[in-house]
Amino acid sequence: MPIYEYECQSCQGQFQTLVMKAEDEKSLACPGCGGHNLNKLISGVAYHQSEKDRLANFNSNSHQNDSFYTDSRNIGLNAKKRAQEMGVDLGSGFETKLEKLRTDPGSVFKDSE
Ligand SMILES: [Zn+2]
Repeated sequence: MPIYEYECQSCQGQFQTLVMKAEDEKSLACPGCGGHNLNKLISGVAYHQSEKDRLANFNSNSHQNDSFYTDSRNIGLNAKKRAQEMGVDLGSGFETKLEKLRTDPGSVFKDSE
């Protein structure tokens, strides 16, 4: 399935969407502001970023739309990025918790001290 990433020129919001046919692209609107002035960011199919790339590209200061957080791989990215920026070592415990949060969210709350 061709998944394309767009950046809205009006609000700088980024989103990914499935484009089945070329006509779909013309009717695309930014989920943040409804704008149609969109930039296609990746011209490719099923592009998967490594977490390292995600971290590098992630801007913790910009607003992420809701769909960002429905991708479980993005959970914790904000905290990680901020820690990285501040030079804080979150330790392996954080990684473990994050991994649990991504794979089995319920267990994190059971385990948390
Ligand atoms: Zn927008």
